Amino acid sequence: MTIKPPTDLEPQINIEPQATANRQMLFRFLPAVDALLRAAYNHAPDLSARFSPSQLTVYARSAIDNLRRQMSIETFDSKENFDATNEADLRAQLLRQAHAQLSQQIERASNSDLRRVINATGVVLHTNLGRAPLSLAARKRILEAASYCTLEYDLESGERGRRGAGVEDLLCELTNAEAAFVVNNCAAATMLILAALARDGETIISRGELVAIGGDFRIPDVMGDSGTQMREVGTTNRTTIDDYARAVNANTKLIARVHPSNYRVVGFTHTPQLAELAELARERNLILYEDAGSGALFDMSEFGLTDEPIIPDSIKAGADIVSFSGDKLLGGAQAGCIVGRENLINVLRRAPLARALRIDKLSLAALEATLESHRRGAALKDVPVLNMIAMTPNEIAQRTQTFIEPLRATLEAHGFAVEIIDGTSAIGGGSAPLTHPPTKLIALTHRKHSPAQLAHALRRDRSDMPTVIARIADNRLLLDLRTVAASEEVDLQRALIELNKLSS
Ligand SMILES: *Cc1c(COP(=O)(O)O)cnc(C)c1O
Repeated sequence: MTIKPPTDLEPQINIEPQATANRQMLFRFLPAVDALLRAAYNHAPDLSARFSPSQLTVYARSAIDNLRRQMSIETFDSKENFDATNEADLRAQLLRQAHAQLSQQIERASNSDLRRVINATGVVLHTNLGRAPLSLAARKRILEAASYCTLEYDLESGERGRRGAGVEDLLCELTNAEAAFVVNNCAAATMLILAALARDGETIISRGELVAIGGDFRIPDVMGDSGTQMREVGTTNRTTIDDYARAVNANTKLIARVHPSNYRVVGFTHTPQLAELAELARERNLILYEDAGSGALFDMSEFGLTDEPIIPDSIKAGADIVSFSGDKLLGGAQAGCIVGRENLINVLRRAPLARALRIDKLSLAALEATLESHRRGAALKDVPVLNMIAMTPNEIAQRTQTFIEPLRATLEAHGFAVEIIDGTSAIGGGSAPLTHPPTKLIALTHRKHSPAQLAHALRRDRSDMPTVIARIADNRLLLDLRTVAASEEVDLQRALIELNKLSS
């Protein structure tokens, strides 16, 4: 609160700072909900279009309650906080403070909206920014599926069809698997597979694969919750096929291979080939399950991704079941894709957990359109994630030059220094942690404003300006066009020009 000591209060509202009775009196002058709402509507006429009257009433009550609470604390000094000389003044001041509280609440409520941002960080699968941005085709398909659609309907027979049948066919074609099934995300796929195929039995896993993926998805915990007994073998850095073989017993049901995704052990390491594990599994009548994580459908080593499992290769090597994410290297919507042997997939379909983990129609629509891009052989061009990963340093250099040169003069005139420097992008999303594709970065500094202030200004919350997320390093604001779509460049330029309005 910002208000100064009182000068000459009228007797009936002259308040001793610590006296409870007088504080009660002060409370009497707090605005009524109606009065506060009237002030709010006057100040922002669009409020009634954004919130229902009942919701605004809730916010207004809570704003007044907050103010009352602040005035109730022992150390609150009314003389320091109000300088009203009469009752009308005091009421007006209390109304202003309540209005400030209400505005804060409304701003908090508005800020929590999901909104589009321009990702200029260069992190392709940015977990906090929604991982894979969808292709145009996927966005269109979502719009179509948003109305009534053939989610579980067979047009030929006019009878009930199977949810996800189209996506399952596409997955089989693209991975050469016998059958496929899709659930809500890859974590759900892992839970379902372990619960349906290894419950009440043992699952063998290498100690080098007991990883945590994201904050809470820890493989040992997932095993426990799925009701399978985890049998760890080998060491953190070296596990041999004999380690696996020795652990097999009458209770063993499954051998799990988990891709460590966001984590690498380097140096003196060994892990058996998937084909060796497949042979062991076949001999001992066990299921071999690979949680591949990222879902690369083809070899991306030419783009620096050298140690991501390639799904058709895993099937070819003899994995019985493979799971992977729909929104990592596959570039589609959040989904858990499962491919493998038909008899096992059928067990998964019928498991009670399957219904609880099922995928919704919008994700299915986006995934279907994305997989169609893969089938057309157009994924590198049409699927944004793959397009960004495949972008050459030359391409990025040219784009960066063409993008920033028209802005350079005006930015420099407003106190900015503008450079193009060498740097690296990242894959992100827990994929390929060692891959750092070379890129060009736009580096901005300002003679008065810190990089943090510039980054904050770019994140601004305004309906008429795009929200831009940038990176800060070495005391510079960095923008990487690898993760900015060509169609977003005009908006990004607008946002940068807008920075000129910061005082220079
Ligand atoms: C990312 C990942 C998961 C979780 O996938 P979500 O789609 O985020 O649920 C599970 N396992 C591995 C190996 C992963 O890389």
